[in-house]
Amino acid sequence: MATISLVETREQPAWMPAPASFYGQPEPAHDSFGRRINYLRVSLTDRCNFRCVYCMPEHGAHFAPREELLRDDELLRVIAVAARVGFEKIRLTGGEPTIRRNLVELVEAIAHTPGIREVSMTTNALRLAQQADALKAAGLKRVNISIDSLNADKFRMMTRGGDLQRVWAGIEAAERVGFGPLKMNAVVVRGLNDDEVCDLARLTIDRPWQMRFIEMMPLMGVGDLADASVVASSEIIARLESVFGPLEFVGWFGSDPARTYRIKDGQGTLGFISSVSEPFCATCNRMRLTADGKLHLCLLRDNELDLRGALRAGASDEDIEALVREAVFLKPWGHGLPDGVKPTLRGMSELGG
Ligand code: SAM
Repeated sequence: MATISLVETREQPAWMPAPASFYGQPEPAHDSFGRRINYLRVSLTDRCNFRCVYCMPEHGAHFAPREELLRDDELLRVIAVAARVGFEKIRLTGGEPTIRRNLVELVEAIAHTPGIREVSMTTNALRLAQQADALKAAGLKRVNISIDSLNADKFRMMTRGGDLQRVWAGIEAAERVGFGPLKMNAVVVRGLNDDEVCDLARLTIDRPWQMRFIEMMPLMGVGDLADASVVASSEIIARLESVFGPLEFVGWFGSDPARTYRIKDGQGTLGFISSVSEPFCATCNRMRLTADGKLHLCLLRDNELDLRGALRAGASDEDIEALVREAVFLKPWGHGLPDGVKPTLRGMSELGG
């Protein structure tokens, strides 16, 4: 029987049945390096109501035609099969997940999928104030919220139009309904918000939040900016320590990408996600499902496996399960940034972080 080939272009081969060896494997799935892969980040849409400078190019961002995006029934079918393979945690992302039609119904269905233990979401929170109650009732457990600046003008500039006041209302709604402890994400870009890391970190002194500083990654469309403007975690830590004194190391837990520290006596924590300067591929437990139905095997590599083609060609659940297992098995060890290998196919807004 022919095997499915992993491709590194948008051109997908016609769907073919997977090899028999991928059927009926015992759960949960492990990749060829023995890592247990149980966390699926699901991009609900490649569209976004922001245009963050580190995420999308100002012009020429790629958006898939609507008919190429997974429908609700297709998405739920893939998640149900992924759960059979051993995926337990689902994070909804995008683009901006809160602009997906039927979001609340999708969350409810995913939360009730046998095998799924937790549904969380990464959002810019612009629409969260209106949606938080319904999402909580539907079974959403936690949210990570992107906030790169506490200055309304700079926030608008970095997001190309975002309204900080509405985002803050979304953050307050997230707290009110109990999506905590909140994790806040800031991508630090030299010359834009690197002068604000202390203000952002200060949020954790009297709030139980985790403020996470993310090194900018060279995804498609922002590679030049990332090369020129990435700020290493070590530099951020040095800047914070010059103001707050030595940070207390809290831990680096399991597959969490963030190394956590605390400002002395702070209620919350600081997280450092050092994908560029100190990769953490050895503990990676993640794969991504793009809004157009591809399993993307490593954030910073182009390898993908087409599930949408299989779904629409009439594949059975067993066939889809075999494809998911194959994708897990073939997950690359890690990214190739130290060797100059950069992703060329997709921007972060298509992958969801
Ligand atoms: N729209 C949602 C949001 O803003 O959180 C979810 C999608 S966004 C692509 C997910 C995460 O990716 C955000 O925390 C964002 O800051 C991060 N991100 C986007 N581009 C990035 C880049 N080039 N390097 C590192 N992180 C990036």
